Amino acid sequence: MQCRALDEQKLRCQNDAAASDYCPAHRAAMEQRIGKAANLPAPRWRVLWNKFAASSNGVPDGGKYDVPKWLSGLPTPQVIEHLQTHPDSMARWMAAFVLRKRRAADAFEALWRARQQDPIRFVRQQAAVALGKLNTPAVYAPLVEGLHHDRDPGVREACAIALGNLGNPAAVDELVHALTREENVFVRWDCIVALGQLGDARVEPLLTQLQTQESAQVVRDACRDARAEIQRRRAVSSNV
Ligand SMILES: [Zn+2]
Repeated sequence: MQCRALDEQKLRCQNDAAASDYCPAHRAAMEQRIGKAANLPAPRWRVLWNKFAASSNGVPDGGKYDVPKWLSGLPTPQVIEHLQTHPDSMARWMAAFVLRKRRAADAFEALWRARQQDPIRFVRQQAAVALGKLNTPAVYAPLVEGLHHDRDPGVREACAIALGNLGNPAAVDELVHALTREENVFVRWDCIVALGQLGDARVEPLLTQLQTQESAQVVRDACRDARAEIQRRRAVSSNV
């Protein structure tokens, strides 16, 4: 199996991970990170997230599409097969949609490959949305990779939205980094909304600055709303 970590360019590590999730080089770093996390008291956001995760089936998904029976009735391994090999891009898109609605964790590898490699942007976008609905922290890496590298703004948007919904605080640095070079107004918008959702007070000065500099009114408004959201979350967490 291929390593599930990203390299310094934020592309998937090419090393073989044998039977585990990470290659030897990344395994040490991941274990150190997990060990460190285990020795620290859980931050307040984590306590809140665990409460949320325990009381729900993960990130809500209001997406609706009438998938034809020949596909929606198939067992998951066959849906994965269609995502990977069906010649019709609409069938691959629908396969990604079915896997998204099933929150099919065993489709993780196939969805990551589709997010990276499908030639049709709508399929890559649906794969990114589907990754965001799987209840596993492993989806963080393919979403960060897509945020930085996908050539289509719609896919980068889907990755930014999913990173905001997932609530992993490490995404803050990635979204801030994306804003330094992202030119598409809608992707900028979604990065800023995601920063609001992540609620990290360190980005308030950046949002204040962008609120005066952004050329698009919608993005300036998003900066204002994200700052309000960060302040609201701070007020909620100080009352827990
Ligand atoms: Zn690796």
